[in-house]
Amino acid sequence: MMKRLLAVLATVVAVAGGIATTAPAASAAAKNGLCESGEFCLYFGSDRTGSLVDFVNTQRSYGSGGSCVKFIRAGAGQNSCVQNNAASAWNRSGKPVSVFYNSDFGGVYDVIPNNAGPNLNDNVRKDNASHIIGDASLRFPLNATQAQVKNRPTPWCWNNKTNCHHDYNAADIFAATGTVVVSPVAGEVMTVRGGSSTSGATATVKDAFGRLWFFQHMDNNPGPSVTPGQRVAKGDRIGLVGTRAHAMNTDPHLHIDMRVGVNERVSCTGAQCAGYGFVNNQPLLRTAFLERP
Ligand SMILES: [Zn+2]
Repeated sequence: MMKRLLAVLATVVAVAGGIATTAPAASAAAKNGLCESGEFCLYFGSDRTGSLVDFVNTQRSYGSGGSCVKFIRAGAGQNSCVQNNAASAWNRSGKPVSVFYNSDFGGVYDVIPNNAGPNLNDNVRKDNASHIIGDASLRFPLNATQAQVKNRPTPWCWNNKTNCHHDYNAADIFAATGTVVVSPVAGEVMTVRGGSSTSGATATVKDAFGRLWFFQHMDNNPGPSVTPGQRVAKGDRIGLVGTRAHAMNTDPHLHIDMRVGVNERVSCTGAQCAGYGFVNNQPLLRTAFLERP
């Protein structure tokens, strides 16, 4: 009897302890100038000095001008815009955080591990424009080895960190017809289209950060292996790289591009796409490529 009572008491204590340990995270208030458990914080100065701003969410833009997100805590830099002004960080979010050079999670970046409080690297120190709280990394979108991609007649510019698509921000990754196209992210399939005999099949996948990934020049027969509304994991098959005709009389390739905050890929081709806010993903794609065998 005594033993049983003790067991019940132990359960009560364990539950109460659980509540007590989660309470600080639940009370974390964004943008109050305190870097609390559950938050990601940016500092105006190096080594976590000067003013700070604290976030609980992913931020695709800090804004500029009078309505910008500002450093809050008293100290050097207080009331300055966060964009292009952060020198160090403290990641208490419980997840990895990626800080990007461009808004909408584009360009070169720095990954801050959970519980780390480093100075930002040279890519984004005082050049920060957005961040993702969570795993922003990509799976390379083709089941091809590095050698298979490098040995194409006109290889993809795999070593570039700047955009090297022929017009707007995108990538043309040359690969043999029949190479398996996979999702670079976990997300939801938004659209699947059979496409024409000249441009091939297309699909889009939207991830948890609002990034809409578009895949083009895939084979029509067999067509894409996904359907709208389907959930996919990183590395799940989308379709196959199409024939020469499906890449509009260039060497066969996967065209991939990305925009944030939309559910459908805008209908545009070539230079007319330049004004639509497509994002430079070369640095993320390059990192994913270098993880291939
Ligand atoms: Zn292209």
